[in-house]
Amino acid sequence: MANVKVDSPNVSYTSKHIESKYDYSTTKVYQDHNGGYTATPVTTRYTFRTQRTVPKLGVMLVGWGGNNGTTVTASILANKLGLTWHTKDGIQHSNYFGSITQASTVCLGTGPEGEVYIPMKNMLPFVNPDDIVFDGWDISSLNIAEAMERARVLDYNLTTQLRPLLEHMKPRPSIYYPDFIAANQFDRADNVLCGTKQEQLEKIRQDIRDFKTNSGVDKVIILWTANTERFSDVRCGLNDTADSLLQSIRKNESEISPSTMFAVASILEGVTYINGSPQNTFVPGVIQLAEKKRVHIAGDDFKSGQTKLKSVLVDFLVSAGIKPVSIVSYNHLGNNDGKNLSAPHTFKSKEISKSNVVDDMVQSNNILYEEGEKPDHCVVIKYVPHVGDSKRAMDEYTSEIMMGGHNTLVIHNTCEDSLLASPLIIDLIIIAEICERIQFKVEEDKEFQNFNAVLSLLSYLCKAPLVPMGTPVINALFRQRNCIENIFRACIGLSPVNHMMLEYKHE
Ligand code: NAD
Repeated sequence: MANVKVDSPNVSYTSKHIESKYDYSTTKVYQDHNGGYTATPVTTRYTFRTQRTVPKLGVMLVGWGGNNGTTVTASILANKLGLTWHTKDGIQHSNYFGSITQASTVCLGTGPEGEVYIPMKNMLPFVNPDDIVFDGWDISSLNIAEAMERARVLDYNLTTQLRPLLEHMKPRPSIYYPDFIAANQFDRADNVLCGTKQEQLEKIRQDIRDFKTNSGVDKVIILWTANTERFSDVRCGLNDTADSLLQSIRKNESEISPSTMFAVASILEGVTYINGSPQNTFVPGVIQLAEKKRVHIAGDDFKSGQTKLKSVLVDFLVSAGIKPVSIVSYNHLGNNDGKNLSAPHTFKSKEISKSNVVDDMVQSNNILYEEGEKPDHCVVIKYVPHVGDSKRAMDEYTSEIMMGGHNTLVIHNTCEDSLLASPLIIDLIIIAEICERIQFKVEEDKEFQNFNAVLSLLSYLCKAPLVPMGTPVINALFRQRNCIENIFRACIGLSPVNHMMLEYKHE
């Protein structure tokens, strides 16, 4: 389908760029000594410039041989080849359901026959996921075909078609420090790097360069979809600055985690790094290094199932003036992620990541909540091998309604975890990639600038969004989605979606 062309004096197209002049309207608020507010509308002129040339993209997954790594690789290949397969319900076609860039639409405006919706992927010159070249690392040596079968996610009639095409893909040996993940992962760790931390860092950097040269891709993005690690200590002199972190790696400090090693290697190679798991990979030293080197980082933890729903449901309740007072979430799953999370120290990372997801919604309403007041919030995860990748999530939301009444909502959610995470991985990659090609300047600035090193635009896809220092964290799903859609609209000079529909409200 054709991309959009905007007809406006504020938008220009050259062979290299789309440039748009855009008025960004906000409201500054001051509180006077009587507690009253003065609100002043402010408009700032931005110029957005988006590079039109779509690079050939290479993606390196850390944890390539896991359920997510194999599912996303296999699904992209199946889509590229247009594969279909027989199931007991009939013929199934490959698709990208669950990806906002590939399978959701945006309202472009109004035509003679009403509202016109287009795929989000047609708003700007995005990478097509079908064209991504995959590579990666895993501590398990199985090739991607064997690993896909081990994952037991995709239908047998599809995996038999994909097997010969995935057999030659073999994960590179990875960094394994047993102390950071559950002891029950030891059995699969037969593909690991030896040497000092500094040597391992150099090896990972070399892998990135080798992949780029040998595959002929123009650009690489790295994404961690390996096991959830325990949190690492953050200490003065250990990892609190970029210099101390690099020094700690040179000194072979045991508290530097594998994921931090990958983030450092990625940043030093100028490659965007995305963290799909909950651990604190982005210790202050990593963030500082990314800022210094002007490389994008994003995370943490894919927002795929229970948390995604929570960030819709609590937003709905609080914005409807209903007061959630208790949220209790039980999960059980039987895949390797569940097995790894059955150790207390890795579960703790997940619990932390899941715990703050309603804070912004609660804080937004001081009619319902006193300062510092929060709903009770409890998260339980159990490993039940039989259910495999088909994760169960059961949530109970109890709220106070009018005049002391109560409302209890109970939700049971069953779904293949990796089929929810894989489209998120695609979106993270596609959006992170275009963010490298979007620049902007403010008012009369001479120079264009890039987005901040901490790519908060990806918050929609993350359970515990990493944001630049001082930036409010937004968890409410539709605010996050609007942010993405409206920034893409700004890049082509279209005003943000406001849902006012004034054109239909005339007499
Ligand atoms: P998985 O256990 O199937 O895959 C992880 C892979 O990482 C395994 O193949 C393992 O061998 C490998 N690995 C472990 N340590 C490694 C290292 N240091 N270097 C390279 N490889 C390493 O898990 P999964 O279901 O694919 O999930 C991956 C991650 O995504 C987990 O941390 C999980 O918590 C997170 N996550 C998943 C979902 C989801 O699937 N819906 C949602 C949110 C977060």
